[in-house]
Amino acid sequence: MSRTGRLVAVSNRVGPVRGAAAAGGLAVGLVDALRERGGLWFGWSGRTASGRGSLRQEMADGITLATLDLTQQDFDGYYSGFCNNCLWPLMHFRIDLMRFEHRQLEAYRRVNTRFAQSLARLLRAGDRVWVHDYHLIPLAEELRRRRVRQRIGFFLHTPFPPTEILSTLPEHESLIRALFAYDLIGFQTEEDLVRFQEHIRRACGGTAKGGVVTAFGRELRAGAFPIGIDVDQFHRYAFTAPGNREFARMQSVLRGRDQFIGVDRLDYSKGLLRRMDAFGRYLEGHPKAHGKVILLQVAPVSRSDLIAYRSFRQELDREAARVNGRFARFDWTPVHYLNRALPRRTLAGLYRASRVGIVTPMRDGMNLVAMEYVAAQDPADPGVLVLSRFAGAAQYLREALIVNPYDGEETAAAMHLAREMRIQERRRRHEALMRRLRARDVSRWRRDFLAALSEVPAGRQGLRKAR
Ligand code: ADP
Repeated sequence: MSRTGRLVAVSNRVGPVRGAAAAGGLAVGLVDALRERGGLWFGWSGRTASGRGSLRQEMADGITLATLDLTQQDFDGYYSGFCNNCLWPLMHFRIDLMRFEHRQLEAYRRVNTRFAQSLARLLRAGDRVWVHDYHLIPLAEELRRRRVRQRIGFFLHTPFPPTEILSTLPEHESLIRALFAYDLIGFQTEEDLVRFQEHIRRACGGTAKGGVVTAFGRELRAGAFPIGIDVDQFHRYAFTAPGNREFARMQSVLRGRDQFIGVDRLDYSKGLLRRMDAFGRYLEGHPKAHGKVILLQVAPVSRSDLIAYRSFRQELDREAARVNGRFARFDWTPVHYLNRALPRRTLAGLYRASRVGIVTPMRDGMNLVAMEYVAAQDPADPGVLVLSRFAGAAQYLREALIVNPYDGEETAAAMHLAREMRIQERRRRHEALMRRLRARDVSRWRRDFLAALSEVPAGRQGLRKAR
């Protein structure tokens, strides 16, 4: 294990390193990279403590995990408050749901400062630091204040909003300025990159040429690095135990019925209400499908301490009940709705058993479920993906049936088309989609990002005055 040149990953939560739960997109991508060089993973422990608590370090699979607890006050202000109640809706273009409080922004800054204080002490010369997501925008600026000169990259997992939307956030200037303490910023899609460059030109008086972006007397590199999944691993999940057992069980429950599947965190960005509505329209327009089709929606509750999420959940319960109330028969319930997280191998089996995958967010950074659905299919008899044009994944997965989720009729028509699609057409689309998944899998994502970070001209870190 090399003692220099470590990868240091920083994310809000430090995830589990082993086991099924570790197989989420971000965790897989990071854990492999961290293992390669005996890296360090730094972030919140996921726990709240009464006092500040000290830094905890442990080893897992050759990776050092360094975690901090949050106080209840910081959890409320930083995580529930500024991150989930302000930045998340903003990044997903939902300024109607954005709630801004100065004291929450202060808590956000306080937590980032605390993270930087602890992290700065752990860094060694030659380390590369890779910071993840909107929770930690000010982290590099705080590290630079502590004379950290190592390369620091930032990857935004959410969309980057247009300048008109971003400008509604009070103090947005200071957040954008803070980004310029990074050497490299990565976005999910070219569209996000372009919106960032536009914002720099229009709101910050800066310039953006190719990947070089200049503002506030500073310069950074920016690029699109679409995240992917471990395609072969996910395919294996669907075709080996226990995934294949779940597949067989599901098939025997379905008894020849066609299943549409949706798998999403229960979040207003995922388009679940309109999806239910579109499914209702589909049933209304296709009486022959009655008794022959079900929609399985798996949607574990998330962020339930926030009002926006609680009221959204109530609306969704009502919408699912409305469709069932209208169409169900004593021997057929059209919508099956589970508020639970499932093991990933079970999910793989369920995807495989589903004729149609429905992924219709109103706005999404990338969307890994779309990719998992494709990877879990049987190439000889694959299902069809219906995908929102507003998921980052739609930029890459061109052979899906792309829909505008604001158009219920169009989504319902795509559900019909997907269910009726001939096998040759399904195979053709699936093959093309698998090629695209393989070309941009999770290992390419991290290789490309880390290579770009290494290519930032040496000796300028933290001192990147514009030329
Ligand atoms: P987001 O990061 O916004 O939740 P993504 O689609 O990019 O959306 O990633 C979601 C991840 O969480 C996927 O890997 C998916 O398999 C997983 N996931 C979503 N719903 C469930 C569930 N009910 N049970 C287990 N895993 C889930």
